[in-house]
Amino acid sequence: MPAQRDNVISVIPFAGFEKELDYRIPDRFTGDVRIGSLVRIPIRNRQSLGVVAALEGDSGLPPSRLKQITQLIHDEPVLTEELVALARWMRDYYAAPVESIMETMIPGPVRRGMKPKVENYLSVARKVSSGDLEDLRKKAPKQAELYTFLAQQFKPQKKSLVLSRTGVAAASCRALVTRGWVKEEARRLDREAYRDDLGGGETVSVLPPELNEEQEAAASAMLDSLRTKAFRVHLLQGVTGSGKTEVYIKVLREALNDGGGAIFLVPEVALAPQTVGRLRARLEKESGVRTVVWHSHLSEGERFDAWNAVVTGEARLVVGARSAVFAPVPDLRMIVVDEEHEPAYKQEEVPRYHGRDVAVYRAWLNRALCVLGSATPSLESLRNVSEGKYVANRLLKRVDDRRLPMIHVVDMCREILSKRGAFGLSRPLVDKMIDRFEKKEQTILFINRRGYSSSVLCPDCGHVLECEHCSVSLTYHRSDETVKCHLCGHQRPAPKKCPSCRSVKIRWKGFGTQRVEDAVRKVLPKASIERMDTDAMSKRNRFREILRDFRLGKIDVLVGTQMIAKGLDFPNVTLVGLVDADLSLHVPDFRAHERTFQLLVQVSGRSGRGDRAGEVVVQTFTPHAGTIQYARREDFDGFIEEEMESRRSFQYPPFRHLIHHLFHGPNPEKLEFYTERWVRHLEEKLPEAMEIRGPCPAPLEKVKDRYRYQVWYFTHNVTRLVPKLQALRREFPWPDDVVQVLDVDAVNLT
Ligand code: ADP
Ligand code: ZN
Ligand code: ZN
Repeated sequence: MPAQRDNVISVIPFAGFEKELDYRIPDRFTGDVRIGSLVRIPIRNRQSLGVVAALEGDSGLPPSRLKQITQLIHDEPVLTEELVALARWMRDYYAAPVESIMETMIPGPVRRGMKPKVENYLSVARKVSSGDLEDLRKKAPKQAELYTFLAQQFKPQKKSLVLSRTGVAAASCRALVTRGWVKEEARRLDREAYRDDLGGGETVSVLPPELNEEQEAAASAMLDSLRTKAFRVHLLQGVTGSGKTEVYIKVLREALNDGGGAIFLVPEVALAPQTVGRLRARLEKESGVRTVVWHSHLSEGERFDAWNAVVTGEARLVVGARSAVFAPVPDLRMIVVDEEHEPAYKQEEVPRYHGRDVAVYRAWLNRALCVLGSATPSLESLRNVSEGKYVANRLLKRVDDRRLPMIHVVDMCREILSKRGAFGLSRPLVDKMIDRFEKKEQTILFINRRGYSSSVLCPDCGHVLECEHCSVSLTYHRSDETVKCHLCGHQRPAPKKCPSCRSVKIRWKGFGTQRVEDAVRKVLPKASIERMDTDAMSKRNRFREILRDFRLGKIDVLVGTQMIAKGLDFPNVTLVGLVDADLSLHVPDFRAHERTFQLLVQVSGRSGRGDRAGEVVVQTFTPHAGTIQYARREDFDGFIEEEMESRRSFQYPPFRHLIHHLFHGPNPEKLEFYTERWVRHLEEKLPEAMEIRGPCPAPLEKVKDRYRYQVWYFTHNVTRLVPKLQALRREFPWPDDVVQVLDVDAVNLT
């Protein structure tokens, strides 16, 4: 290995460089620099930090021409080898700036050179005979001295103190550890600092239920995979309330009891307090395994603490949103991706990765088990099952044979004609709500926010109020009588009359959460009503308070967006209403039907989780639409068969990968000109690698006064195409005011 002998390494710099750079290791660091080590490097007359990516260079420059690293920041690497491999893969697959990946993987304080708050402790690993000790005293007196010192102590001693007291060098200490006589362990100092209180307010029963036959079968198939210590992916498809979480827990427990680590991903931690609480109660309290909760609300310091706890192996279970997939869990055995179909797993800023797909790739690197779970798996995962790449496990029954709720589809055209409803709520829904209120049972009303739900539309002339800077409609906010743009923040007083026809009815159109809340107040004046939407979400405590009050029965009707549809389990909810089922059907996205179906199933899963059967009312203007009927019959397979066929005929994902290339700039003609030129350039240079569609204006044509154009690329092989695209993109003469976004496996197509 000539490169090794020459002490050349490849470093990922944190200084706005896209490429790895080669450096030489000075002799004093030889042997200590490893893959994942944080080092200080000279770049263009400055000093910067970087992470070692490989112990050999690839620049081909003779070592004498290379600069030397100037410092090794920590003794321990800040990334494991597989995380470095994962970072390189993400860079190539997602065309992501490697610096953004480092920022996601390594907490800020560590990237700036702060040492992990870890203290290493030394203790005697085994008793040795006095003969052996004498032998060592002759060969290596310092080692023998250190061993003797430690053998006299009652408990593990701080390494730094021991070394300074005995005057023994770190190298001698390392040799003793290698010899197996002394044990070195990392320990945290302030044990309670990273305690997170999320989920703490939820009381959870700790008693494990006896798994039913279906659950047992799924769990034992996963346990088999776990025990092989080979890479496997299982797709656990179970109707809502079928007990998927219990299956995860059973398998997790074995992974943890065996000394391994695990990661559990949820789409959004704040929305999964019950799941977090349950995992903690069951795995932390029972098995004594520390859990770290990893989420986007953590401050930099808290994230650093969480990271420390994981790096040192003190916490072996990490529960969190998508970025938790990068937690440096040692000996990772299992990753769970709950609600794997959720679009929230896709990060909509650089690095634009998909948390589920990264989880699968990381499991492959670690030869670990990956479990994807959902009541309505994505078409991507289902296709991997039919291709034989994933193992499918299904749970068809709700636990204790609780019945699935009865779903009523209400035709809103008829309702409006008959004038029996009230303020956007149909008569059947209103009657059932009154009935529940009288029986002291609870109702949840969902608003479908994927559509343009709270737009201000004039019922007389059809005029829609739009933002002047963005091509979206403005949303009406009742609390301060304003209309706002959710893209650019533009805000002005709500007009009293339609600007087009002067009609005074304009303010009353749209089904925003506030509007539905008002309608419910009119129908049930004595009921206690609460609203949960993005406004409530921004105040985390408020959100938790509402959930607690709802659980305690202090709230009769909860109104919210589908954000709250996930994972909530309230036994006293026997009625769920979906106010505007079709809105998500009419968005310009080939996944519109999949999303609507998933929404309908998730939403109805919230009803009837206790002993009483639940009911669901779905209000729609298109009651006969296939998607709605499949959902009504809970016919998942029927829906998937039809949807898969339609995707196949267009060769949309999951049959090919979709790369979404977005361009924006102040001048639409210029954008059109350059994007057309770019596409012609691509057709010339990459004739067969892909299918190109576009350029054309994006569905959102304008945001913050910038016009948007898009090009779609369809390909079977992302890893082959993306590097070529990147290379061409770099050499293309783009004008300065055109900004591009390349989104691989795009989820948001607006
Ligand atoms: P899912 O994740 O599939 O929606 P959960 O795992 O949340 O379902 O289970 C729903 C409810 O049923 C939970 O309250 C859970 O404690 C309970 N449960 C799960 N499995 C069993 C079982 N085998 N016996 C009794 N109750 C169970
Ligand atoms: Zn009008
Ligand atoms: Zn705007």
